[in-house]
Amino acid sequence: MEKDECKCGSLARMAEDPKNSVEFDARLNEYHIRRADGSGYSLIYFCPFCGGNAPKSERASLSQRLTDAERQRLGELTKDLRTVQDVIAAFGEPDTRRPIGMTVVTPEKEGAPETTLACPVMTYTRLSDVADVHVTVYPADKVGISFQGKPILVQQRQELRIRPAAKPPEPEPQIDTSRRYDVYCAEPYQKTVVYRNARFKGAGSLLLPAGAHAGFSQFVELEQANGQSVFISRGSILRFCGPGTELAAEVLAPK
Ligand SMILES: [Zn+2]
Repeated sequence: MEKDECKCGSLARMAEDPKNSVEFDARLNEYHIRRADGSGYSLIYFCPFCGGNAPKSERASLSQRLTDAERQRLGELTKDLRTVQDVIAAFGEPDTRRPIGMTVVTPEKEGAPETTLACPVMTYTRLSDVADVHVTVYPADKVGISFQGKPILVQQRQELRIRPAAKPPEPEPQIDTSRRYDVYCAEPYQKTVVYRNARFKGAGSLLLPAGAHAGFSQFVELEQANGQSVFISRGSILRFCGPGTELAAEVLAPK
């Protein structure tokens, strides 16, 4: 079902408010949302308050104005063309050819029934910068020629998107695992152990089915100062720091 046009006036009120980024383009009969960086606007299709349609855009009906001089020039160019053969001899093949470009209806008259004549139309777009030349082909290859301002193509920069673009996640700081660290790990009974001067050698999961991923690996392989490896549970790692770093953390007495 076709929605009704907005009647609540919210768009017009927003457009009048200079602090609001909504504006009305009278030429196109459109409401726009200006982009903050000045790179263009988004076209508003619906009123955000009542859900009604924004006013009908004049975008498609805008066409370029033919000056008298240009109309005269095209008139001169085409004045002797009477048949399809004349036109093609003068301009070559048309840019577009519609088999039924024009229908001519002759109303019922003095007992003769109404007749409908479907005429092909050939269009030349390259004869003028501002106008297209339409050649209507009547029976017996007679032609009628008309000029029509080319449509103005208004570049729309961006459609209104309801969903804001997601911010790309900040890259995580990389930890240099080629260096050695003192790695503090939690042990049962609230004990903490430290692996001094150890190196994070790798990570892995235990007894996963072939091809499966745990999401993140369950264990971290530490190369201890003596060169031997130990796998520690990833979750047991409390902190790590450069070898010999003094921990300046204070222990708070329970209250
Ligand atoms: Zn509305």
